[in-house]
Amino acid sequence: MTVSHSFQQLRDSLKASDKMPLVFLGHGNPMNAIEDNIYSRSWSDLGKSLPRPQAILVVSAHWMTSGSTLVDVSEMPKTIHDFYGFPDELFSQQYPAHGDPKLARDVVALLASHHAQEDDRWGLDHGAWTILKFLFPEADVPVFQLSIDMTKPLDWHLGIGKSLAELRKRGVLILGSGNVVHNLRAMRWGGKAQDFALEFDTLFTNKLSDRDHKALTDRDALGSLLTMAHPTFDHYLPALTIAGASDEKDDLTFMTESIDLGSVSMRSFIFHGA
Ligand code: ZN
Repeated sequence: MTVSHSFQQLRDSLKASDKMPLVFLGHGNPMNAIEDNIYSRSWSDLGKSLPRPQAILVVSAHWMTSGSTLVDVSEMPKTIHDFYGFPDELFSQQYPAHGDPKLARDVVALLASHHAQEDDRWGLDHGAWTILKFLFPEADVPVFQLSIDMTKPLDWHLGIGKSLAELRKRGVLILGSGNVVHNLRAMRWGGKAQDFALEFDTLFTNKLSDRDHKALTDRDALGSLLTMAHPTFDHYLPALTIAGASDEKDDLTFMTESIDLGSVSMRSFIFHGA
């Protein structure tokens, strides 16, 4: 495992592999989309370090479905402003990237064992566009989303990742967007990190570093720490899918290792071929 904070080092290792890296970003507060802060800057830096993908498949915490796994096959996914009570500037943001209907249909086929289906009613929710805006500011790489089925067990989402892994060799960037800890009821504005947030963040980091993915889906063993960190699992599931798509030989790099607002982990990670 490599833990690196140098974008130059990361850039060199990302460009050397024939497989696209896998990226999970903690997106946190939608305001990050219009603020110049440590998170938005890290996303810009990462974007400059990544090899240019053929397309981007985003697994966002904000496209939740019940009993189905949907893939957006639209030509021009619309920018969805799925939040309330924020400034007009945030509502006026657009991310005008094209979709990739052909590849999206290939993904439906790839996930046949997970009963994936086509959909053209979604688009890009704020879990996707608030980070894409910094990663690929020109919006010139085709992008489409995959939904998370909230009715399925945690290991299902690892399995989805495993099935998607082959896309890495086809130049597809698989991008997970959620948060390693996400408990909005326990937020502290400007306050220090909650103990449970630090504890789960550390546990997640250790298990991911050990490639012990099974431990990340073991609800009995994780117990109440998991439900404190994630009263609902939407922001956790994309991290599991990214873990599931990784392979033992990948290096793992963490970035933005901090707890924002007391109970939202901004920890992000990248798997990349050695
Ligand atoms: Zn979110």
